[in-house]
Amino acid sequence: MATINDNYRKLKAGYLFPEIARRVRTFTDANPDAPIIKLGIGDVTEPLPEACRTAMTQAIADMGDRATFKGYGPEQGYGWLREAIAAHDFQSRGADVDASEIFVSDGAKCDSGNILDIFGHDNIIGVTDPVYPVYVDTNVMAGNTGDANNSGEYGGLVYMPISAANNFVAQIPSQKVDLIYLCFPNNPTGAVATKEYLKQWVDYALVHGSIILFDAAYEAFITDESLPHSIYEIEGARNCAIEFRSFSKNAGFTGTRCAFTVVPKSLMGKAADGSDVALHGLWNRRQCTKFNGVSYIVQRGAEAVYSEAGQAQTKALIQFYLENAAIVREKLTAAGLTVYGGVNAPYVWVKTPDGVTSWDFFDQLLQKANVVGTPGSGFGAAGEGYFRISAFNSRANVNEAMRRISENF
Ligand SMILES: *Cc1c(COP(=O)(O)O)cnc(C)c1O
Repeated sequence: MATINDNYRKLKAGYLFPEIARRVRTFTDANPDAPIIKLGIGDVTEPLPEACRTAMTQAIADMGDRATFKGYGPEQGYGWLREAIAAHDFQSRGADVDASEIFVSDGAKCDSGNILDIFGHDNIIGVTDPVYPVYVDTNVMAGNTGDANNSGEYGGLVYMPISAANNFVAQIPSQKVDLIYLCFPNNPTGAVATKEYLKQWVDYALVHGSIILFDAAYEAFITDESLPHSIYEIEGARNCAIEFRSFSKNAGFTGTRCAFTVVPKSLMGKAADGSDVALHGLWNRRQCTKFNGVSYIVQRGAEAVYSEAGQAQTKALIQFYLENAAIVREKLTAAGLTVYGGVNAPYVWVKTPDGVTSWDFFDQLLQKANVVGTPGSGFGAAGEGYFRISAFNSRANVNEAMRRISENF
């Protein structure tokens, strides 16, 4: 019989979102009329910007005409989209990124997992705790970890706790870590990184020959002008960082699928024979072998994000979610809860009241207010005692959820 990748058996069985779904189902089976409001999973709710829809409609027309029909596109993405990304997202902010260093893809989730294809299995991996579960689980699947212990921590990973005590930014480790996952603005805590803080990581990475895997999926939510949107705004980052970006959260592309990864040509890794090898070439080879590009129609939709109308419409979309976050922050604070995040991010990270565990708080919120959130402990052991509320919902649902919480807590 064919054998399996046994690393998959190390994955923790009770994954967060299935367990949430199970508890919600149990509750609704007993209370079929309960008007549940979900502020849990990080998916957008508002429609695609008109500029994107118009561009995609035109692109469909292109596909219907022999003269403009497109077959396979470049595996790296069309030049016009890569140029628009480089100019608007990087060069306009003083970050030195060339269009040829941008790889368009169908998701930052897949890219942040697939990137492990080009790295060895002997690297020491650093993650924050709590963390976006994809970084951890993809390392487990790749065989880069040992087994999980009782609190769900995998052997071989370096966990860097983040909590109110360190303003939700990890302390730079004293030991050497080869690959470091950083996510700013942060999912799940909503925390942000200053230039000074990222500079510490870049300096650390340059000294140790480490690579920072920087997830900037939420950069569009940054409102504070002093904060960097890209790691490449930090001097030296071209020699130590890969950045993941996505159209999912800024332009509502979660169901449309378009993202990109930046691999600078100056970024090197060590080969077994001791030589330095450019990661750009490896990622290009990986993508050309395993990926055939994003649909022409979707890339035209993504390009429209950078048009004048697209910029105005995505800005309004983000403003809308940030207003939701502000309402959540205000109402929960008034209800006596301590909240973090939600200013430069669509997530509000709530401290559960004294002694209440994340899952007990989940159950209380579900039973008393019929509101579903995400238990902080689901993102890692150090998330215990916290709870994530997402601002991705309609204004009516956010207002109603906050009204119920205000009345019941
Ligand atoms: C939503 C999200 C992404 C985006 O993933 P896509 O696959 O592009 O939709 C990436 N990273 C984090 C931390 C996210 O929350």
